[in-house]
Amino acid sequence: MAGDLESDFMPCCGQIIKQAVNGSGAVVRYAGAKLAGQETRCTPEQIAARMAVCMKCEFMSVSKDGTARFCNKCNCWMDGLMLHKAFLTTEDCPENKWPKL
Ligand code: SF4
Repeated sequence: MAGDLESDFMPCCGQIIKQAVNGSGAVVRYAGAKLAGQETRCTPEQIAARMAVCMKCEFMSVSKDGTARFCNKCNCWMDGLMLHKAFLTTEDCPENKWPKL
């Protein structure tokens, strides 16, 4: 069941460091795909399929107002105002739960 406590949602220092490392990798993968002329944006259907899995996942946390979602496994923002991991073709679920593109 997805977490919904604000304390689960707010990243700690360790999570912020992991976010920086994972975010750097995501930027490199994104830039590589762009340079290679590959599609980097998932379709709305692909995003919806990914988020449907995330919303049932034990690692997902949702802000109390429901406007932002955060994965406690990879320490990534899934949507909202931050890095949109679920929107990027170059990213994948760390637990291999997402449908393959
Ligand atoms: S990215 Fe994977 S591990 Fe993270 S919340 Fe979504 S399904 Fe769960």
